[in-house]
Amino acid sequence: MKMLQRAWTPLMAAAFCVLTGLAAQPAAAEELAKDLFGAKKLPAVAAPQSFGFYSKGCFAGGVAIPMDGPHWEVMRPSRNRRWGHPAMIGLIEKLSRDAAADGWPGLLVGDISQPRGGPMLTGHASHQIGLDADIWLTPMPDNRLSTNQREKMSATLLVDEKTHLVKEALWTPQHARLLKRAASYPEVERILVNPGIKKKLCDTVKGDRAWLRKIRPFWGHDYHFHIRIGCQPGSPDCKRQEATVPGDGCDQSLAWWFTDEPWRPAKNPDKPKARELMTMASLPRECRAVLDAPAPSSAEAATYHGDGRSIAAAAPEPAVAAPEPAITDGAGALPASVNAFAATPEIGIPLPRPRPGN
Ligand SMILES: [Zn+2]
Repeated sequence: MKMLQRAWTPLMAAAFCVLTGLAAQPAAAEELAKDLFGAKKLPAVAAPQSFGFYSKGCFAGGVAIPMDGPHWEVMRPSRNRRWGHPAMIGLIEKLSRDAAADGWPGLLVGDISQPRGGPMLTGHASHQIGLDADIWLTPMPDNRLSTNQREKMSATLLVDEKTHLVKEALWTPQHARLLKRAASYPEVERILVNPGIKKKLCDTVKGDRAWLRKIRPFWGHDYHFHIRIGCQPGSPDCKRQEATVPGDGCDQSLAWWFTDEPWRPAKNPDKPKARELMTMASLPRECRAVLDAPAPSSAEAATYHGDGRSIAAAAPEPAVAAPEPAITDGAGALPASVNAFAATPEIGIPLPRPRPGN
């Protein structure tokens, strides 16, 4: 805890008060985390940092992908799930450019995360730490979609619900190309697709098949695929997922999906989902600070544009934003970076840094 010796600043004192206040209100811990995180409209202003696991955590320093880009459009905008770790948002933008160069007209961007992550009121179990994103398997249409169309347009199911096989009339080599491109980035650890899509790739990909290792079969994911990137630098409390098994995955593990077992009705269908039970006590303790951290002045102020122009302020001064965003106190309770902004009225959303060696 060398870094803590730097100074006992008023900010840290304020952080301490927050903690003390917390201790005085044990009842608050019983609130459902999905209600608290689902109510947040804007991100936590801080250095970008993910806490916990993809299906049990939160994140600070989120940025939004703009509603429109040269090669993407955000779908279902009313959900307000276009937030992510800057590395995730930067990656989607990069994929949109590369995919366009490959001949895919553009990305329809589905859910990423809530502004501060955490469990959602509806849908996904994961997407909680800003490192997951859903991309539709429908190419972006020629005409810009209206807000209403983005809310209402139905997705194309690429997989037959009975056979679990890809609908041949709808599948194109461009779909495979898009998935290969997404898998090509070192920061992408997994891509979740319907088993039918995985099988189609297994059956048709020639030459380099190493990237198939990242393509993982999973329920759903028949109209979109799910990109998951790894824990990012500056997030020591981000819990890594297990590495994928070596090989292309076109083996018995895939064959299992074409048995009856994965599709049997749940034995206990009324069992509550994890998010129905998750309280703040279930999440990493830092998520309380993430919830309480200040918000930027507007969504636009925290919207990521590749060149950084419209991010409200320049990256914060190193003296203000701890250069190691991961400093926590001895109890691991409160990331200093979350509070480092408390006394600073100006909003600074740090720009994404390229991964070393990437
Ligand atoms: Zn997803």
